[in-house]
Amino acid sequence: MSYSSLSCQRFEFGGFSRSEHARYSVIGVPYDFTSTYRPGSRFGPNAIREASINLEAYCLRNMFDVEDVPIEDLGDLNVLTDAGATTDLLQKVVAEVVSENKFPIVLGGEHTITYGSVRAFDETALISFDAHLDLRDEYLGNKLSHAAFMHRLCEFLGPERIFEIGSRAVCPEELNFAKETGVKYLTSRDVLKIGVTGVLSKLRDWASSFDRIYVTVDMDFLDPSYAPGVGNPVPEGLSPTMLLDMLQRICGPKVVGLDVVEVSPSYDSGLTAIQAANIVYNVIAFQEARQDSTKQERY
Ligand code: MN
Ligand code: MN
Repeated sequence: MSYSSLSCQRFEFGGFSRSEHARYSVIGVPYDFTSTYRPGSRFGPNAIREASINLEAYCLRNMFDVEDVPIEDLGDLNVLTDAGATTDLLQKVVAEVVSENKFPIVLGGEHTITYGSVRAFDETALISFDAHLDLRDEYLGNKLSHAAFMHRLCEFLGPERIFEIGSRAVCPEELNFAKETGVKYLTSRDVLKIGVTGVLSKLRDWASSFDRIYVTVDMDFLDPSYAPGVGNPVPEGLSPTMLLDMLQRICGPKVVGLDVVEVSPSYDSGLTAIQAANIVYNVIAFQEARQDSTKQERY
């Protein structure tokens, strides 16, 4: 059974047509049932799609035109209210996309969905850009929520395979868990202190042990002045320029998938969806340019 008949309707991303030769597959996941503060990220996928139509697809950072890249949009996953069932379904769809040698780009939806897409890969490591660690063992009695899914992924992947960047809204339980298990994280102030080069140096050392890396971007990584329309905005965030500078150097043959989550359009002026679509376009350009690793220095 193909993924399109399994659980997705078809849309188009940014005016690109579906192609059997696609190298990138966009999958919307309109799921926000465990959101605790400002719900509405179920409307995120289509807000990001709409924003993508009005952005230039030409990436000036590496002078690459994303319009030349075959991209398909599988539409939205038919989500259920249950986070476990929804993430299991997403895992199946992403696994099928990967089996066709396509790069999945998952649009959230709340951050819990990362628990579905990451499990579609064998032994991947995970880089998470997020104001939160999402490492609680449970939140409001829920063991699989957007505040606890990273704890579940620690159990699945092993804590050594997780690197979180931009942390600034944490609780003692999460800090203790990270310390005990060795989950790596850099706070937003750490990032400002050591700069993009310092972050990349730490990532390079860590990533050298792994063959595959999945990247998740929780939009609250960005400062609320850049991305106000998120479920749980946190002051003292970082800039889109820093994020894209890091992504440009992280992208390459090892990177196997991306998700962009937590856009909550009801609280947005449209800016957060634009940032999210811009991240997607840039990651595609970075991936395409970095497949030839001889062209640019890694990290
Ligand atoms: Mn998160
Ligand atoms: Mn967050």
